[in-house]
Amino acid sequence: METRRPLIAGNWKLYKTNPQAVEAAKQLAQMVGHVSDRDIMIAPPFTALQSVSDIVAGSAIKVGAQNIHWEKEGAFTGEVSGEMLLSAGCSYVIIGHSERRLYFGETDRWVNQKIRAAVRASLIPVMCIGETEEEYEKKNTLSVLDNQIKKGLEDLDFDSLAHLVIAYEPVWAIGTGKTAKSEQAQEVHRYIRSLVEKLFGNGLAKSMRILYGGSVKPENISELMSQPDIDGALVGGASLNPESFSKIVLYR
Ligand code: PEP
Repeated sequence: METRRPLIAGNWKLYKTNPQAVEAAKQLAQMVGHVSDRDIMIAPPFTALQSVSDIVAGSAIKVGAQNIHWEKEGAFTGEVSGEMLLSAGCSYVIIGHSERRLYFGETDRWVNQKIRAAVRASLIPVMCIGETEEEYEKKNTLSVLDNQIKKGLEDLDFDSLAHLVIAYEPVWAIGTGKTAKSEQAQEVHRYIRSLVEKLFGNGLAKSMRILYGGSVKPENISELMSQPDIDGALVGGASLNPESFSKIVLYR
């Protein structure tokens, strides 16, 4: 059986000044910097990427960005490229988070371009997908995900996707305290893996890590991680506090 290394990722969103991010990273490095049987990523705001990378360098904690622009450089005021993220110490980048889709008009086409940019810069893309509450209630979850995956990964080949991580985050579960039941999440993860198999083959489907996101807490991580197709978590609110994030990282 294929073993996929678990990945626990924290999305700090629009929180933490530089000194606050440095302090949190120092505490985290003390608590989980030694961990060797799972991968850990934190995604601070752009302004703290370099300083957090300096703090966690040499530990098990890797750094990710929360967004990327598809061009390498140019007249694109306010944007940051993959090459810039790499040079600031990033190894991962979150792409297509539902907050970006909702508030900043991010489309599946942009997601596709951003994944290409991440791959070009040797960053691991974490592509977020998920249905809204309305789509969930209308029982459209699988068709929404189908569309997001097909468009987000359009014309990408096996080699480009070798390290891709998918994060399934039902929008109705983000920051709401509502979590999908672990069996319900498992069913969706299994569907995602079968779709990846159909589109890109069995090898990629077996090795691809699919994270669950949406109100993950120390209290529910173990049950989620006991599901065969859940390979980790993308954590928002509970990642802001080093103590609660460490408990999630150290789940058993
Ligand atoms: C997220 O931002 O990706 C997320 C899942 O947030 P939360 O854990 O707060 O629901």
